[in-house]
Amino acid sequence: MELNKDIDQFDIPLAKRTYLNNPNSTLLKKLLIFSPFLFLIFSVAALRFIRNVEFIPLDNLKFEVKKNHSARILGHLPYRETPQEKLVLIEPNIEVHMDMRDSLLKMREEAEKDGIYLVFLSGYRSINLQNDIFYSLKSIRNQEAAERARVSAPPGYSEHSTGFAIDIGDATQRETDFETNFENTDAFRWLVNNAAKFHFKLSFNKDNKYIDYEPWHWRYEGSIEALKVFESANRKP
Ligand SMILES: [Zn+2]
Repeated sequence: MELNKDIDQFDIPLAKRTYLNNPNSTLLKKLLIFSPFLFLIFSVAALRFIRNVEFIPLDNLKFEVKKNHSARILGHLPYRETPQEKLVLIEPNIEVHMDMRDSLLKMREEAEKDGIYLVFLSGYRSINLQNDIFYSLKSIRNQEAAERARVSAPPGYSEHSTGFAIDIGDATQRETDFETNFENTDAFRWLVNNAAKFHFKLSFNKDNKYIDYEPWHWRYEGSIEALKVFESANRKP
């Protein structure tokens, strides 16, 4: 009867009531109730401590990995081969991306009006051709890869495979073709002053720490596709 009365009075089972009335159990229950919060607070504090004390060097390491993740090889960025249907022949043996043809030909025309005769030396190059250029000459010249890469891109890493790069010479000074002293020609001076009007930009200037200065090598940035292709190249390394 005592049991039933208790049940009626408190409307909770006896076992639970007894449990709640036990001061030790109450403390235990409170701890149990608060344990997720305590665990959370402890975890946050522990994480903060660990991050502050130990993970700072790891964070730096992650940052380094990200920086190196630009996927450069010996200073060159990777480029896809432009599909054949986007290439147009502008001269025997010189193909370029269709987006840049008009601008390139217009640039040569405008230069002529100023008495400057530009000659196109090399446009689109397939990855296979780049493979030959890189490895055959590397072998003939007995060069290590890094040394070779200063003057030629490894296959898959050449701006020429995009169709948006063009090597330009001075038709009146062919001895300067692909030579640093092309920078002393009238053609080069004209390009420096005018190329941007036609959306061309020198790709490898003197402050590139991996790749030698190439005054003859210009890339086109006059279409969204071209800008996308060179997005990484235009970011600071
Ligand atoms: Zn080039």
